[in-house]
Amino acid sequence: MPEAPALDPRLARALVEVVGADHLLTDPDVTAGAAVDWTGRFRGATPAVVRPGSAAEVAGVVQRCAAEGVALVPQGGNTGLVGGSVPLAGEVVLSSARLAGVGDVDPDGGRITAGAGTSIAAVQAAAAEAGWAYGVDWAARDTATVGGSVATDAGGLHVVAHGSTRAQLLGVEAVLGTGEVLDDLGRLEKDATGYDLSGLLCGSEGTLGVVTAARLRLVPALPDRALAALGFGSWADAVTAVGLLRRGLPGLEAAEAHGAAEAALVAGHLGASPALDPPPAVTLLVGCAGHGDQVDALAAAVDGLAGVTGAAVADDGARRAALWRHRESMTEAISTLGSPHKMDVSLPADALAGFAEEVPARIAAVAPEARTWLFGHLGDGNLHVNVTGVAPDDAAVDDAVLGLVLERRGSISAEHGVGTAKRRWAAEQRGPTAMAAMAAIKAALDPAGILNPAVLL
Ligand SMILES: Cc1cc2nc3c(=O)[nH]c(=O)nc-3n(C[C@H](O)[C@H](O)[C@H](O)COP(=O)(O)OP(=O)(O)OC[C@H]3O[C@@H](n4cnc5c(N)ncnc54)[C@H](O)[C@@H]3O)c2cc1C
Repeated sequence: MPEAPALDPRLARALVEVVGADHLLTDPDVTAGAAVDWTGRFRGATPAVVRPGSAAEVAGVVQRCAAEGVALVPQGGNTGLVGGSVPLAGEVVLSSARLAGVGDVDPDGGRITAGAGTSIAAVQAAAAEAGWAYGVDWAARDTATVGGSVATDAGGLHVVAHGSTRAQLLGVEAVLGTGEVLDDLGRLEKDATGYDLSGLLCGSEGTLGVVTAARLRLVPALPDRALAALGFGSWADAVTAVGLLRRGLPGLEAAEAHGAAEAALVAGHLGASPALDPPPAVTLLVGCAGHGDQVDALAAAVDGLAGVTGAAVADDGARRAALWRHRESMTEAISTLGSPHKMDVSLPADALAGFAEEVPARIAAVAPEARTWLFGHLGDGNLHVNVTGVAPDDAAVDDAVLGLVLERRGSISAEHGVGTAKRRWAAEQRGPTAMAAMAAIKAALDPAGILNPAVLL
C-alpha cells in the first residue's frame, strides 16, 4: 500500500469544525479499508476519511478542501469496480455513510427520496413496504449506495425491464465542486424547465458534485415470478433467443448469460451442481414477472425458441433463489482466483456473439497464461469480461479487450463507469468534441478541480 500523505493541521481543524472530531478519521488502521477497492486491484492511500452528516456539512467539507486545494474522492459502499472510489493519488475520502435514510414513499406517485448513503437493499425494502418495487437490483445491493449508483448510473439484473439508474432518477440534491448545494429533488415526472442537471450528475462518477440525496421512481410490485436456465450451443443462438424473448415475453425481467467454464467455476465455488449439468456452451437465465402463474407464459415463450439444448425451470421461491445464486456468485467465484481485470462492455446486438467468440483469443494473444471469464446481462447487450492470471498493473489485456470493443462499435463501459482504469479508452470512444464538452462542464461545476480529479477526464 502506498504511503498516505499527511493532512495539513489547519485543514484538519477546519474539517473538525464542520463534522466534529468523531467524523474525521485519520488513524491509518481505520482508514486503510477505504483506500483499497472491492477487487483488491486498486490500492491507494489517504490522509483522512471525513464523514459529513448533512448536505450543509458536505458543502462545508468541499469548501474547506477547495480553499486548501486538497482533492476529495466521494465514497459510498466502495463496491465500484473501476478504481473510481479509492484515493489513488492521496485524496481525502468523503464518505456518505452518515447520509443514509429513506423518506416516505409517495403512495400514488410511486416515488421515494433516499439519502446518498442508503443501501440499495434499504430502498428496495422501503418500496416493498409501500406496495411498490425499486426497478434496479444487483448482487452488491446490501452495500452499494444510492449515491454510488447515481454516480455510476448502475445497471444490474433488471435493466431489460426497467432501464438503468438513470431511468429511475427524478432528481438529486448534490454539493457541486463550487461548494454550492444544488437542490433538484423537486423535479416532476413531466418537467421541461431547462437542462436536466440531475441527469448530468448521473454517471458523472463523483467528478462534478457529491450526491447527498436522490428522488427515485418506483415500479409496480409484481407478485408472481418464474425463472428458467436455458442451454445453448453458441452465443449466437443465445443472442437470437434474447431478441425473441424481448418481443414475445411481456413480463421479461432478466436475461443473464454465462459460458460453460464459468458455470463450472461457480458451481465448484458453491459446492453445488451447475444449473444445467453438464454445463452447455452458454447458459441463459431468463426471468419473468407478472400477475398470476408465470410458468406457463415462460414455457410458451421458450417453446418458440430455436437452439435450446436443455432447460431447468424454477417455479418456486427456493428453486429460483438457488438458480440466482449461481449467477450472483459469479463475481465472488472469479475473485477467489486473484484480483481480476474487469471489463464491463456493451455491444450492438449484431456484434455481441462475434465479440464473445473472439475475445478469448485476443486475450490469449497478449497474455497466454491468462484465463478469460465471460458472463453478463445479455438482455442489455452487456458482457463482463473478467481476466485472471495477469498482474494488476499489466494493461495489455485491457487494451486487447477494449480495442476489440471499439472495433465492433461497442461501449467500453456498460454500467461500471470509466473510473481511473479506462480513461484513455473513454476518450477514444467518445472523441475530442465530447471530451472537450465534458471538460468544460467539469470546469464550470468544479472549477478548483478537487472532485475525483483522477477519474474519467
Ligand atoms: C459483487 C458485485 C456485483 C456488482 N454487480 C453490478 C451490476 O450488476 N451492475 C452494476 O452497475 N454494478 C455492479 N457492481 C458495481 C457497483 O456495485 C456499482 O458500481 C455501484 O453503483 C457502486 O456503488 P457504491 O455505493 O459502492 O459506490 P462506490 O464504489 O463507493 O463509488 C463508485 C463511484 O461513485 C462515486 N460516488 C460514490 N458515492 C458518491 C456520491 N454520494 N456522490 C458522488 N459520487 C459518488 C465514487 O467517487 C466512485 O467514482 C457490482 C459490484 C460488486 C462488488
